[in-house]
Amino acid sequence: MVSRVIPVETFDLVIFGATGDLAHRKILPGLYRRFLAGQIPAESRTIGAARSVITSEDFRTTIDEPIAEFVPKSRQDPAAIAQFLAQLHYIPIDAKGEGGWPALRDLVRPNVVKAFYFSVAPSLFGDLAERLHQHGIADATCRIVVEKPFGRDLASAHALNQSLAAHFSEQQIYRIDHYLGKETVQNLMAVRFANILFEPIWKAQYIDHVQITVGETVGVEGRGAYYDTSGAMRDMVQNHMMQLLCLIAMEPPYHFDPNAVRDEKLKVIRALDPVEPKDIVRGQYLAGGGQGSYIEHSENPDSRTESYIAMKVGISNWRWKGTPFYLRTGKRLRSRASEIAITFKAPPHSIFDNPGGIHENVLVIRLQPNEGMTLTVMIKEPGPGGMRLTEVPLDMSFADALGGDLADVPDAYERLIMDVIRGNQTLFMRGDEVEAAWAWTDPIINGWEARGDKPRGYQPGSNGPDDALMLMHRDGRRWREIKE
Ligand code: NAP
Repeated sequence: MVSRVIPVETFDLVIFGATGDLAHRKILPGLYRRFLAGQIPAESRTIGAARSVITSEDFRTTIDEPIAEFVPKSRQDPAAIAQFLAQLHYIPIDAKGEGGWPALRDLVRPNVVKAFYFSVAPSLFGDLAERLHQHGIADATCRIVVEKPFGRDLASAHALNQSLAAHFSEQQIYRIDHYLGKETVQNLMAVRFANILFEPIWKAQYIDHVQITVGETVGVEGRGAYYDTSGAMRDMVQNHMMQLLCLIAMEPPYHFDPNAVRDEKLKVIRALDPVEPKDIVRGQYLAGGGQGSYIEHSENPDSRTESYIAMKVGISNWRWKGTPFYLRTGKRLRSRASEIAITFKAPPHSIFDNPGGIHENVLVIRLQPNEGMTLTVMIKEPGPGGMRLTEVPLDMSFADALGGDLADVPDAYERLIMDVIRGNQTLFMRGDEVEAAWAWTDPIINGWEARGDKPRGYQPGSNGPDDALMLMHRDGRRWREIKE
């Protein structure tokens, strides 16, 4: 299956923080891939900006390397790379200073789509917004893209929203949650809302429970001091996992329109129950396998920040009351794998005396590795052995659907940047949505801080603390075994 590429309008994209890690690993290689695919018009330009005093020529040279490193070899076309690099420019700019802004104003063209990507620390968002405005670079049609973390609690997220709203309307602000750019995550919406099959049973009456897992094998070494100010709840649950939960739980929007979709997600967040302490397990990885512990990596011997969290979340609305959503995420776990698993209830009465019993149907949406979906169903075991039943997966791997070539599936960042240029906010978080997510998160974090709860230690390479198993066992359920 060959995916259609629809070119976007000609644009000037300014990346603040263009010398940083995110720009090098994701944004610029992603732009190259879209260029190679024919989606970016030849007259478009990408303008890097950061404090480093380098020329456009130096900048192009530094981008050569990340393209070689982060783009699959089969997609490295020297002629296309040269054409892409020719679209790159660079202007030294300090977000807190006045130098460079007039040059940027002269470079950015008035008659093309203008987007400003804030790939810098959130503490600089306000300065950038202010100066873009002051120097007459931003206008009412331009777009700004902001990275996570969007605040560390409701108050700071609200302050950030205010600092952006001082100069830009909500229609101009694109808050990135790259999970929303993943192929499978969008497919979740397609499966739910473009098929009649699941909708009648997509409710507490037929769904026993939902598990959302984001597992990582890496620890926080190298960025432990930063991570220690955040933790798994702020880093993963409040944003990425919350978005996944919303897409599973939301009502069908009246149209696939940015505000209609985000209105429905907001309703889910507002219906989330407060989480009781007994429904939360927090952990910190111990030393092992030749690697240091979380405490060593965070360089904070008294740290109570969690590198793992598991929790049971309820939603109080007609569709979901009584169906728990179990979330878990952690560092230094057995496998780097992320999935959503929707376990349906067993049939109310079995007419078969099957030795192995009747297994529940499970719809699994794999985010990584090997993005795809599987639905397990019970069928008759082939052969003359009588009416014996067995469970088989109906598997839809995107690699298979694309003829085995995953190199053609756009990365989340590629898709999201193209959506910015197209002016489509559907896959970006709205300000009220982010604040509602923090309003739910804050009391949970404040609760464990006030109680002085300490995270449990867990072995590296394990599935997390043993207590997390109990969170499911006491409900008569089990976590799924997550395999890479
Ligand atoms: P980084 O590697 O530390 O890069 C920061 C960038 O900001 C550099 O280009 C730096 O360049 C520039 N910068 C710093 N101070 C500046 C100033 N006063 N004026 C103008 N530019 C300034 O950070 P990063 O990892 O790329 O992350 C960027 C943003 O993306 C952060 O908000 C981060 O939380 C978010 N994010 C990153 C990732 C990731 O995988 N890296 C993932 C999700 C979200 P100079 O030193 O030359 O100024």
